[in-house]
Amino acid sequence: MYDIVVVGGGPAGMTAAIYARRAGKTVLVLEALSCGGQILNTPDIENYPVEAHISGYDFSQKVYEQAKGLGAEFAFEKAVELREQDGAKVVVTPKGTYTAKAVILATGSENRKLGVEDEDRLVGRGVSYCATCDGNFYRNKVVAVVGGGNTALEDALYMADIAKTVYLIHRRDSFRGEETTVRRLKEKGNVTFVYNSNVTKLIAEKRLKAIEVTNKLDGSVQTIELNGLFVAVGRVPENQNFANVVKLDEAGYVVAGEDCHTGTEGVFVAGDNRAKALRQLVTATADGAMAATEAVKYVNSL
Ligand code: NAP
Repeated sequence: MYDIVVVGGGPAGMTAAIYARRAGKTVLVLEALSCGGQILNTPDIENYPVEAHISGYDFSQKVYEQAKGLGAEFAFEKAVELREQDGAKVVVTPKGTYTAKAVILATGSENRKLGVEDEDRLVGRGVSYCATCDGNFYRNKVVAVVGGGNTALEDALYMADIAKTVYLIHRRDSFRGEETTVRRLKEKGNVTFVYNSNVTKLIAEKRLKAIEVTNKLDGSVQTIELNGLFVAVGRVPENQNFANVVKLDEAGYVVAGEDCHTGTEGVFVAGDNRAKALRQLVTATADGAMAATEAVKYVNSL
């Protein structure tokens, strides 16, 4: 029986582990893939205090080593179920079950899909959700980026320096992302803006070779021949496996205030999967600290 099981080894989960270990609790972090989560895809973090520039990978490694150095245990298994049993929390993975006095859900979020036919089949064959991971495969090629948030704008900017041509396809004619990035994109000579449009078809043989884009205003359809499509249309929280235990809002985020209490005794939430106003690295780590502090108080009260 662990004092605290943390589900998710991103910045929120690993920070929670650091705080809980420093409070003397036994801690297991369950991580489905690699510690770091979404931030692993960020080549350069410029907005986290102390270091002016650090890659998401280096950041994640440092936090992982810090948590491990303090005695947190890690298991690379995906938590698929959480249930109560005899007053304890039971977390189930495909490899086994773990019991804890308290659980912190720090599962973050996953890429939102476009929802067009063949999208899944073409991942790795022309469709990508991470320009910084896969962009280099498209050197001097033609690519499109879909989305209008900061991720899409930054992906388009990144690809403009690598690819021959970049189409930026957005479903509206104004961007959710920062105006300064839009301005920088407009200064690039190889970025074509496609407004009020959705990608409605992927055309492929073995690999993606073109897309059909439908204009929402007049219904016209254009075919764009390309080599790569980067989908950057936001993220969805990974809470579905725990919907039986905690309350989710209509968008699927765990309903909890700044104290990270879920309303279910002994279950706390931290990071991007919590309903909140600002999802940034600094707010994820802040959540980790808060959730762990509250979980420690809970364990001490038992
Ligand atoms: P986001 O801000 O939620 O933007 C998602 C974009 O995708 C929106 O423009 C949205 O269009 C569009 N979209 C959503 N569903 C779609 C669909 N089915 N088909 C076509 N388009 C669709 O997501 P994000 O860009 O990943 O950013 C997430 C958060 O991280 C934001 O808070 C962002 O500011 C932050 N972030 C910050 C930085 C930075 O500080 N440097 C970098 C990256 C991300 P609508 O606009 O029409 O809704």
